[in-house]
Amino acid sequence: MKQLRNYIDGKFVESPKLFDDLNPADGSLIAQVHEADRTMVDAAIAAGRRAVGGPWGKMSVEDRAKVLYRIADEMDRRFDDFLEAEMSDTGKPHSMASTIDVPRGAANFRIFADILKTAPLESFRTTLPDGAHAINYTVRKPLGVVGIISPWNLPLLLLTWKVAPALACGNAVVAKPSEETPATATLLAEVMETVGVPPGVFNLVHGFGPGSAGEFITTSADIDAITFTGESRTGSAIMRAAAEHVKPISFELGGKNAAIVFADCDFDKTIDGMMRAIFLNSGQVCLCSERVFVERPIYDRFVAAVAERMSSMKLDWPTNKATTMGPLISAEHRDKVLSYYQIARDEGATIVAGGKVPKFSDARDKGFWVEPTLITGLSDQARCMREEIFGPVCHVTPFDTEAEVIARANDTRYGLAASIWTSNVNRAHRVAESMRVGISWVNAWFLRDLRTPFGGSGLSGIGREGGMHSLNFYSELTNVCVRVEGAAA
Ligand code: NAD
Repeated sequence: MKQLRNYIDGKFVESPKLFDDLNPADGSLIAQVHEADRTMVDAAIAAGRRAVGGPWGKMSVEDRAKVLYRIADEMDRRFDDFLEAEMSDTGKPHSMASTIDVPRGAANFRIFADILKTAPLESFRTTLPDGAHAINYTVRKPLGVVGIISPWNLPLLLLTWKVAPALACGNAVVAKPSEETPATATLLAEVMETVGVPPGVFNLVHGFGPGSAGEFITTSADIDAITFTGESRTGSAIMRAAAEHVKPISFELGGKNAAIVFADCDFDKTIDGMMRAIFLNSGQVCLCSERVFVERPIYDRFVAAVAERMSSMKLDWPTNKATTMGPLISAEHRDKVLSYYQIARDEGATIVAGGKVPKFSDARDKGFWVEPTLITGLSDQARCMREEIFGPVCHVTPFDTEAEVIARANDTRYGLAASIWTSNVNRAHRVAESMRVGISWVNAWFLRDLRTPFGGSGLSGIGREGGMHSLNFYSELTNVCVRVEGAAA
């Protein structure tokens, strides 16, 4: 049986305590994972501290950027290993993992190497009353040892989204991937070893949240900052833990995202876009649209078109290149999503399509599948309209006016993303800017430029990462102020 080990201070470390890594497509055992105990997590943090105090923390920006490039190149060389590991861990289809998850893993290292090399520093000249002046300039320094805790839905993409800028800024990291998806993180540790990243710079610890590696990281007094992607509830627990030692935190949390479809949209392109926005990764993307508002004149046509497209979705093995939708991540998560299908029924919804567990009559029946599901007929106050479900499901509801739909879309405690579908350019800007979210797309969804700010408001998170925003989170800025006597000749 394949073993996935921790990576601490440049060495792969075993543990007497193992847990199972399952393939969600058929529930089979893929690997056994070595769970890090508190002593191992503390050793990883101490190794990180030594690394930041050594040559790594003092390395020139150019040399560090070269290391990041080497990591990206080695990830490309091992593309097929990453692809196979990501598909088995998550069940996500080849069509997605090969075009989004795995390429973005390497791209994250390249983009942050480039951003680091071109990042400007602030400088201000201050005129003083006595004729002298002062020159202020900022110096960027590493924060120290950064704790990184990541989720299972885009395991490699979201882990590297944090590891790359943290390393770019000269920090060391102690990373804990989700217990559901430990495989690509372990491959990343192999890449770090192969390309010669100094021991202690990248540490990987496996385990769970409470009472395990996650909690050991967030409660340690020796961690200098915590960056977390996951559920809002977990963010709240981590915030409490971080408060004890007053640490910087960056949180990318859940969403209950709205899509707004106006009658003047390009209908076919909107249906294409909305099929992705609702069902990509079986709806397990924080940005997915679970609340879809459609202008009344095209409401019936929209519901019929989505239902029609759903009937040809292909739920099959991840390795089949024609597969369009995979399983959910775990039995527990499948039960949660199914419970919301039932809550919708109890709340009086119409299940237009789906709503059940598909029957395959092969090994997939032991996996964690649900049907893609389209719901209508609920009020905006229904639980399925207010709570994040995180499955291949959306609720579609009609609206009549722009002001009404803005108010309804913003009526949520989450604030991550929105998408607006219209051919009216004035309305597009107006509505996009009115959304109380971190990201508003127009005639697009999950279209990312990694230099832009990414994050959410309300229950969806704290802070922004991406581009300079990541560099600012992962570094400590010191302002140097120099008094200069006299005036230049
Ligand atoms: P989760 O919160 O259950 O787990 C995320 C990570 O936190 C895992 O590694 C887990 O082991 C760890 N963890 C859990 N409890 C902890 C604790 N008390 N202390 C320390 N660590 C702990 O989230 P998940 O189910 O893995 O991911 C799905 C959620 O993530 C959804 O809510 C989704 O919207 C959100 N998400 C948000 C973004 C974003 O960018 N905003 C991106 C992806 C996913």
